[in-house]
Amino acid sequence: MAAIKHPIPYQNICQVSFDEQEIEAVTKLLRNPERLFRHRGEETSESDYLEKEVCALTGAKHALFVSSGTSALSCCLAALRIGPGDEVIVPAYTYIATAAAVIDVGGVPVLAEIDETLGLDPADVEKKITPYTKAVIMTHMQGVPGRLGAVREIAKKHGLYMVEDCCQAIGARYHGVYCGVESDAFAWSLNYFKTITCGEGGIFFARDDMAFQLGVCQSDPANLMWKSGLLDDGVVKPFSRAGYRANEMSAAVGRVQLKKLEGIVAKTRALKKHLIDNLNPDPKHYKLQYRDDPEGDAGISFAVICNSAEETKTMVEKLAEEGLELGSLYNAKGFPDRHIYSYWDSIMNKVSPTDAGYPWKDPAYKGNVEYSKDMCPRTLDILNRSLRLAINPGMSEVNMEEIAAAINAADASF
Ligand SMILES: *Cc1c(COP(=O)(O)O)cnc(C)c1O
Repeated sequence: MAAIKHPIPYQNICQVSFDEQEIEAVTKLLRNPERLFRHRGEETSESDYLEKEVCALTGAKHALFVSSGTSALSCCLAALRIGPGDEVIVPAYTYIATAAAVIDVGGVPVLAEIDETLGLDPADVEKKITPYTKAVIMTHMQGVPGRLGAVREIAKKHGLYMVEDCCQAIGARYHGVYCGVESDAFAWSLNYFKTITCGEGGIFFARDDMAFQLGVCQSDPANLMWKSGLLDDGVVKPFSRAGYRANEMSAAVGRVQLKKLEGIVAKTRALKKHLIDNLNPDPKHYKLQYRDDPEGDAGISFAVICNSAEETKTMVEKLAEEGLELGSLYNAKGFPDRHIYSYWDSIMNKVSPTDAGYPWKDPAYKGNVEYSKDMCPRTLDILNRSLRLAINPGMSEVNMEEIAAAINAADASF
């Protein structure tokens, strides 16, 4: 008899966490349409409150609510004055937006391998540093912090800025501190798929006062007019670029969701712990995804890495017999998953909207980065051997016990 006896409620976290409070927050604004613009002189907009509340919760110094996680990442890079001529190291496994944000500010993304954390491999980061490298962006995929300490050491040693893409790691901590807070800048996404959501939205965070002002400039060319406290002291010259101003209705929903965040991750963390506690401690065919700081894991996913590609195939078949449908993260014949660099066609082919070929052909760029679909073989190999499932607070302990039983049975069957 199959181990999975109860249907597993796979759903996005918001389908579990949304209630009347979000609906009320939006309708309240719609009844007062004059409140739909965030800049009204006094700093009492939903966006202003969201920014204060997220700093209070995370310990971050500065936050700006923007239109998406991608735009938040562009703000991070603008904040650190990254532009033409600069290389930025990004993981080969992250959403394409991480690399796109580098291109957006005129920089060149350089890809580094991942390791068994499914995050950046520190040794490969060090190998990818050139005289043009200015920053490293570390992504914590699916709520699991990577080897942040080791990557930070390398960045420090080589005088590089550290940026964290925390779009999938809202609520995750690293040795007790919210992911991102100890880096120069970091980004959250509040899109539909994330741990907390307002439909679409993002938050740009920075540590340094002046860096934050630069990121604010990136977000809205009229901020000089709207926002108080913008510097024009010759150090930060307000510049004009993009328009990432976000919707007040989204901010209102984001505030409600932020209040629920700790409760959501407490639940997902407990579920994941229960799953792991029920696994055979000495499996034959796989290892758990390596967690550098298990306590800080947000618990929104669970992953195993099988010992070989062959064993992965057999595990997938055996798990299906137990009623658990999982595919390897890298399924070359299936869906072109834009979290895997080999599917970033626009970047692999250095596609530029104009014949000038920016950013790769920018006269300021002296490097010679090359891309190819097989340039990060270790990343593809690890993803090919990785099986993962998403955890949401609507799941139960019984679901976790049955998933563990399915994995134990499949692992013991060959
Ligand atoms: C979702 C996501 C983004 C981009 O967020 P959007 O809000 O969709 O722009 C960036 N990086 C990672 C790792 C993500 O998962």
